[in-house]
Amino acid sequence: MADDPTPVPVDSPEAHRYNLIRRWLGIADFALGFVFLIVLLVTGWSGYLRDLALRMGFKNYTLSVFMYLFLLVAISKALGVGLDFYSFRLERRFKLSTQRIRSWIWDEFKGFLVGIVMGGIVVEVLYFTLRQWPQHWWVLAWALFMGLFLALAQLAPVVLFPIFYKFEPLDDEDLRRRLVVLSERAGTRVRGVYRWKLSEKSKKANAALTGLGATRRIILADTLLDNYTPDEIEAVLAHELGHHVHRHILKSILLQGAITLFGFWAANWTLHYAVDRRLFDFDGLSDFANLPLLALVSVVLSFLLMPALNAFSRFNERQADRYAFESIASVGPFISSMNKLAEQNLAERTPSKWVEWFFHSHPAISRRLAAAEAWAKRS
Ligand SMILES: [Zn+2]
Repeated sequence: MADDPTPVPVDSPEAHRYNLIRRWLGIADFALGFVFLIVLLVTGWSGYLRDLALRMGFKNYTLSVFMYLFLLVAISKALGVGLDFYSFRLERRFKLSTQRIRSWIWDEFKGFLVGIVMGGIVVEVLYFTLRQWPQHWWVLAWALFMGLFLALAQLAPVVLFPIFYKFEPLDDEDLRRRLVVLSERAGTRVRGVYRWKLSEKSKKANAALTGLGATRRIILADTLLDNYTPDEIEAVLAHELGHHVHRHILKSILLQGAITLFGFWAANWTLHYAVDRRLFDFDGLSDFANLPLLALVSVVLSFLLMPALNAFSRFNERQADRYAFESIASVGPFISSMNKLAEQNLAERTPSKWVEWFFHSHPAISRRLAAAEAWAKRS
C-alpha cells in the first residue's frame, strides 16, 4: 500500500519465478482437462468409451457407469501425469519438498483411488436420478450431492487426510492452555488441536480449521510448531479460531450449496439442449457418454466463478485476521509469523493486482501486514 510507512521486503526473483511457474502449471492443467472433454465430445470418442464400458460392465448399467468413469479418470491421469511430475520436481527444485519419488508415486496412486471412489459415488447418484426422474433429476441429485458433501466435510479430518498425512493430538501444555484461554474469551471451543506431520513431505508451513461438529479441529503443521515461537503460534491459532467464531466453514458450505444448485440446473438445461438437438449422438439423457458434457458445465462454471469465490475467501481471511488482532496481546507475533511463512513457503508478498484478484484465496501478505500495522496504530 502506498501510504504504508513500513517498507515491505521485496519479493526475491526466486519467489517470483516459483509462483509464476506454479500459476502456469495450474493454467496448463486446466486447459488440458478442458480440451480433453471437448475432444471426447466432438470426435465421438465418448461413444466408443461408453461401448467399451458396457462390455467391461457386462451390459449392467450401474457397473458400466462405473467402468466409464474409471476409463475417463485413467485416461485423464495418463494425460496429466507429466504435469503432475513436473510439479513434484518443481517443489524439489526450489527446496520446498522433502518427499522421495517412491512416496510421491504412492501418494499419486492413493489419490487416484480416492478420486475413483468419490467420483464413482457421484456419477452413480447422477445417472440413477437421471434414469428415474429425467425432468427433475437435478434437484434430487443436488440434494443427495449436498448430503455427500456434508458427510465428507465431517469425515475428511478423520478418514481422508490420514490417508496422506499422520496426525496426533498436540501435546504442548503451554499451547493447549493458550488455546483454552483464547477459546473462552471467544465463548466457544474447538474440540482439538492436532500436530500435522507435514515435515515428512514438505518444508512449507501451514495451519487450518477443518471438520464439522464432532470432528471440528485446528491442525498445525509440525514445520510451524517446531520453528515458530509460542507467541507466533498463538497468533496463528487465533486466526484459525477466527474462522471458527465467524462460522466460515458453514458459510462456505451454504455458498457452495447455492452455486451447486445453479450448476445442476445449468447441467440439466445443457443436457436437454444437447439431447433435443441430437448433438454429439447421445442416446438420451441417461446415456452416460454425456458425462464429459456434464463435467464441462462444471469446469466452465468453476472457472468463471473462481474470482468471486476467491474474493469471498479473502474476505473471510481478513475477518479471521482482524479476530486474531483483537485476541492477542500485540500484533508483533502475527507480523513476524507472516514474514516467516512468506519466507518458508516462498510466497509472493506483493503479487500483481490481477494475479491476486484471480488466483489468491488469501490476501497478499503485504496487505495482511499493512492491516496489522494499521490496527496496532489505531488501538
Ligand atoms: Zn485463514
